[in-house]
Amino acid sequence: QEEQDPNVTLVTATAPISVPTHGGRAKCLQRLVRLGLPVPRTVALGFGTVHRIAQGDLPDIHAILSRFPDSALLCVRHSSEDMDWGGPGSVLNIGMNDATYARLRDKIGKDAASALYQRFVMSFAIHVARLDPDAFEEIESVGQEGLAQALKAYEEQAEEPFPQCAERQLAEVLRSMARAWEGTTARLLRQAKGAPVDAGLGLIVQEMALGLGIGECGSGVLQLVDSDTGLPQVTGRYLSQSQGREALQGGQAALYLARDPRGPSLEDLEPAAFEELKQYAAYMRNKLRAEMQIEFTIENGQVHVLDGVRVKRSSRAALRIAVRLAEDEIITRQEAVMRVEPHSLTELLHRQVDPDAQRDAIGRGVAASPGAATGRIVFSSNEAQASAARGEPCVLVRRETSPEDVRGMHAAVAVLTERGGMTSHAAVIGRGIGLPCVVGAVRMGFRHDDKLLLAEDGRRFHEGDIITVDGSAGQVLAGAPKMIEAALDDVFHVFMSWADAERDIGVRANADTPQDAATARNFMAQGIGLCRTEHMFFEDDRITPMREMIFADSPKDREAALARLLPMQRKDFTELFRIMEGMPVCIRLFDPPLHEFLPNDRAGLRALAEAVDRPISEVTRRVASMGEYNPMLGMRGVRLGITVPEIYDMQARAIFEATLDASRIGAAVVPEIMLPLVSACREVEIVRTRIDAVAAAVRNERGRDFDYSLGVMVETPRACLRADEIAQHAHFLSFGTNDLTQMTYGLSRDDAGRFMSHYVQQGVFPEDPFHRLDAEGVGELIRIGVERGRRANGGVMLSVCGEHGGNPESIAFCRSAGIDYVSCSPFRVPVARLAAAQLAI
Ligand code: PEP
Ligand code: MG
Repeated sequence: QEEQDPNVTLVTATAPISVPTHGGRAKCLQRLVRLGLPVPRTVALGFGTVHRIAQGDLPDIHAILSRFPDSALLCVRHSSEDMDWGGPGSVLNIGMNDATYARLRDKIGKDAASALYQRFVMSFAIHVARLDPDAFEEIESVGQEGLAQALKAYEEQAEEPFPQCAERQLAEVLRSMARAWEGTTARLLRQAKGAPVDAGLGLIVQEMALGLGIGECGSGVLQLVDSDTGLPQVTGRYLSQSQGREALQGGQAALYLARDPRGPSLEDLEPAAFEELKQYAAYMRNKLRAEMQIEFTIENGQVHVLDGVRVKRSSRAALRIAVRLAEDEIITRQEAVMRVEPHSLTELLHRQVDPDAQRDAIGRGVAASPGAATGRIVFSSNEAQASAARGEPCVLVRRETSPEDVRGMHAAVAVLTERGGMTSHAAVIGRGIGLPCVVGAVRMGFRHDDKLLLAEDGRRFHEGDIITVDGSAGQVLAGAPKMIEAALDDVFHVFMSWADAERDIGVRANADTPQDAATARNFMAQGIGLCRTEHMFFEDDRITPMREMIFADSPKDREAALARLLPMQRKDFTELFRIMEGMPVCIRLFDPPLHEFLPNDRAGLRALAEAVDRPISEVTRRVASMGEYNPMLGMRGVRLGITVPEIYDMQARAIFEATLDASRIGAAVVPEIMLPLVSACREVEIVRTRIDAVAAAVRNERGRDFDYSLGVMVETPRACLRADEIAQHAHFLSFGTNDLTQMTYGLSRDDAGRFMSHYVQQGVFPEDPFHRLDAEGVGELIRIGVERGRRANGGVMLSVCGEHGGNPESIAFCRSAGIDYVSCSPFRVPVARLAAAQLAI
């Protein structure tokens, strides 16, 4: 018969069974058979056969049954290509009928035999014949009486006696499972888990080990590690007189596997079976090169292995399991590196909402910075600071954040904004400092004046109410769900060192403050790829001299303000150089529109009026006059360097003086200075001449020499196209893919959050292009820039410092385009290191 239908195959060590034809479970069972484990006799039906069954074309059922000893009970289980896609539920005890019942009654006793028969009638009725479940679920008694009731209910509902013929039973089970797989609901469900439209289903027909009867009988699961931590620990449950996975629902009655203070165990009850199972699991770990969970049945003291699946695991457990397998030389270090999903590392770096916790979602937005935190709602940065001073964790809720909010963000445990996208202010700062953040929660109501936050379903949350921001899921939750802590332990560092050994593209961090730099070092970034110097002015008491500088209406006033800023900047840079200990530090000169630093509320205007000793009305007028229609395309970036050159002069001087100071106390420093928003080669020439002059002056004054390199941010389309000219004046080019994406699409990075979800849902964009680099459009500009830049200057160093530098798919693009290093927020550095390593293996 096998020749007629090669897809109906007895599972032996040599049978032609593969995952793409018979599914994962069939393949795994074959491996267990090869290992000589006590697996009950099994027949595998391939995808083609099952598909034909769904169409009504049954294989030779008699031939299948002839594979099994007479009157054996059978079970059917699904075997899809990827077991995570799910599949129809198993059906057990097929073949049960009056005759089998009579025979079993003599062998295993009346109670056990009638319990088995009753179970089968019920599951056949509900899952195969699709009769009304209520009629069966209300049967309370088990045993002979329950059996009689079930048979009667079947006959009433189906208008025929319960089918006695094993062939018909099996045929109907196979047909019902095959059809269930092809139904629309099941297809949508598995497609959501990544299954292709035409994913196939295999089925396994297996002889039952009964689990009910005389002597010790039962079923359970066993694994050798804890699924949450990955630490070695025999875990699982066992239930006497049970079948399938009943032990997992068995509540109090189920036993622990290993001896346990919480209750009785299989080890106490049946030590020999326990030992045997442990040995099988260890053997499987060695031979199948993975931690496996065994599904087993004990029949009168004898162990049967029904199935083996890879143990379910948290991200933390996945990492530890991979490391331990490599340390035990079961897999190579490269394989260990490949076994952990890069994105999953973010779960280890931050606190998370416990996956088992109840979630009361009150709003959704862009998952802008991962991790979760719980706190009381505050609506302003001042309140956030006051709350932090009282030692009360708070969530800062804003329409959007601006430089003025940075102190508030530092004081808060999480941030929620109404506006914004992946690269808006709150998102960038949040990721930089590891602060959970959800932005663009447009369906929630933000009523700052009433100090009120409205949930999407209309519930009202006031200042002081407790909410949780889940920046990994992009959700806002009411109350304080249970959390799990970050886990940066030795295993993590060992694992990452293995990844680094494979990697062939550099990973630096975007770090603006000493604290960021320390985080970057902690996560083993290979330097700083972008220090956004404007962020340094949001700290402490700097905003006032900064505002005075912007406000100055004569060069003399401006010089005075800059003179106050110089020592602050010098100290910042010295500190960064000291922390980075000779690693490269790339400092970007001032970039944002100046007016971003000016106050926008009455209290701020008044403070500024006091500082510059002018009436509020005048200050207000000037602030208004500095406003721009389109600030992101206005007076910012290198345009400031051309029109207000004193700012860049001051910054260059601070960098050079810090270089000399830091080199005196530690490793020699060669700073990298970077110009933002360049669009014309001439901009670079002009600014470079001034910076060279500042360097010459500092060398002269200090009587000491130093080196530095000057580079250009390529973040306008024109800079990509003119990269050949520009590269002739630059030691390095760094693609600022945030602005480059904004300008290539003509898509505001601060407003895209409003419609991005519509765009992605309707398939206009496959993904938010601020999140995953658009390889086709923006990517083409980058390839042009790389090619032209290198052609004109073979030694030019190339990098990407937009937020895409921390996104695995985008890193793959960068590597293929020939980029030397990527730079991303410190908390994304480990993800980038692992993603880059996997690309090189
Ligand atoms: C960029 O535009 O990609 C970039 C890194 O600079 P910023 O995000 O500060 O504009
Ligand atoms: Mg930019």
